Amino acid sequence: MMKLSLNAAYRSSANLSDFSIHELPKLRPTTHLIKSLKNHTQSRTRMIIPHEPFNHSTFTKLLDTSLPSRGFGHSALLFTQFGHLIDVEHCNCIIRRYTDSGKHLYSVFVYTQMHRLDIQPNNSTFPSVLKSAAQICYGRFGESVHCSVTKMGFGSDMYANTSLVHMYCVCGQPSVARMLFDEMPQRNVVSWNSLISGYLHCGKFREAIHVFREMQGSEIEPGEMTVASVLSASAHLGALDQGKSVHDYIINKGLMLNVYVGTALIDMYAKCGDIDEGERVFEAMRAKNVQTWNVLISGYAMNGRGEAALLTFDRMIMENFKPDVVTFLGVLCACCHQGFVEEGRKLFARMRNEFGLQPKIEHYGCMVDLLGRGGFLDEAMEMIRSMNLKPDPVIWRALLVACRFHGRAELGEFAFQKLVELEPRNADNYVLLSNVYVHDKKWAEVGELRKLMDRRGIRKVPGCSSIEIENVMHVFKASDSIGPGFVDVHNMLGEMKEKLKFAGYAAETGMVLYDVEEEEKEHNLIYHSEKLALAFGLLNSSSTTLRIMKNLRICQDCHHFFKLVSAVYRRNIIVRDRYRFHHFTGGICSCKDYW
Ligand code: ZN
Ligand code: ZN
Repeated sequence: MMKLSLNAAYRSSANLSDFSIHELPKLRPTTHLIKSLKNHTQSRTRMIIPHEPFNHSTFTKLLDTSLPSRGFGHSALLFTQFGHLIDVEHCNCIIRRYTDSGKHLYSVFVYTQMHRLDIQPNNSTFPSVLKSAAQICYGRFGESVHCSVTKMGFGSDMYANTSLVHMYCVCGQPSVARMLFDEMPQRNVVSWNSLISGYLHCGKFREAIHVFREMQGSEIEPGEMTVASVLSASAHLGALDQGKSVHDYIINKGLMLNVYVGTALIDMYAKCGDIDEGERVFEAMRAKNVQTWNVLISGYAMNGRGEAALLTFDRMIMENFKPDVVTFLGVLCACCHQGFVEEGRKLFARMRNEFGLQPKIEHYGCMVDLLGRGGFLDEAMEMIRSMNLKPDPVIWRALLVACRFHGRAELGEFAFQKLVELEPRNADNYVLLSNVYVHDKKWAEVGELRKLMDRRGIRKVPGCSSIEIENVMHVFKASDSIGPGFVDVHNMLGEMKEKLKFAGYAAETGMVLYDVEEEEKEHNLIYHSEKLALAFGLLNSSSTTLRIMKNLRICQDCHHFFKLVSAVYRRNIIVRDRYRFHHFTGGICSCKDYW
């Protein structure tokens, strides 16, 4: 069967091209606006060109001097008053300037006005207006531009198509973007980059990496932009082997270790749990900017290297870089993960007093976490009361976790109430409160909470973990152990459990929210996805370090299990859970058992 090409399909569709300003009601200048601006602009016009007759060239001059500093009403007026003088080059110039200065609605508006005045767009019109459509996620509008592109015979124009690929990805239609990309008769490095960064933008990290591999097999050489995007995709997936292979590629091809590539590399290593390698890249970089320092500092923080984060912060200031809000988030997180309460308090004060930075909600979140962990729950509560911002779920959750550690059930219930108001459907919150009750052995309350969850129909998100072995990502879900392909993993887990019993392992069944028989609880625990991934890793990899990613917070039992495995099996295990990294070595974890 012949496949209808995408561009052909668009050429034959009539209705889409009718996207007009009717879809942008807010953009239509009101009569009132036009009237009030008319006087103003006309007097200005006279001021700029007092003695010349108002013709095409004086109009161009007016555009040059007045765009895009003037507002939307100004461009609306240009079209209503001087439409007869405007040509396609004027429009391209106006659109480009609006797009470049981030006034994307304006450039969309100008494009719709061109249609109204029958000014035919040309190939220079499309890239800018599509960039704007992408920025404001105007997918429907973008589709109508696509119609114009094909109907006006620009269907094989590389620049227009590249912009369309980007627009479709950003507007949530990556499969259309891919189809269009495949149909492009000609592609350059920018075309490839827009597909890769587009996939990155819509969270399709595996696809981004896949396209990079395809690109390596094509005649187009990936550039610095390309590798920075792929590194970012690897970082999101925690795919260290993949990230490393991109690093090798950078070295082999002699690509520049410029500030963007270098920073992306450090970020990748940090997020994949190999901060030592990130540090080496940092030292090798000649040019750095604030972001470079920030990724190293937050990399140390998330990998449990608090001292290193604080030392790097001091060094940053000594080398005359001005820390920003992100830097402070990094150092506060470092203090938080390490329990440096005093340093954290000082840094929080310095942020405002010495650097004139206003703390954002994330900074308060860190402080509440830090104070709560240190047992200063009342001070944490005071901080929440005193801030000018509305507390977000992160803050209440930090308080709730602290309540579990310090046995403050009442305050925990208060935090939980606030959380449920903000996030009524998040099962995590119910689990946390249940943990508070478990800490206090309040079994009746645990049961009540479970009933409440049932009544509200709230289900726990299924746990999902992944482990990368020799460049292949293996994904495990909590119930996977039953499947036929998991006999080995199943046996391995049984074996591990026996071995660990000698090292003092007893399943921490208290943390299982569901009120089930003891044995069943233990059964549930042993099939947590991170344990499946770990057993698979032990079976299939001889590497001394295993890296596991988990979509939820690691549970108490798995945390204990992993600590023992690191000692008994002599492996380093790095788990990146939803909130932080855990580095398990020789029976202890970098988080010092607080998470
Ligand atoms: Zn678990
Ligand atoms: Zn830990």
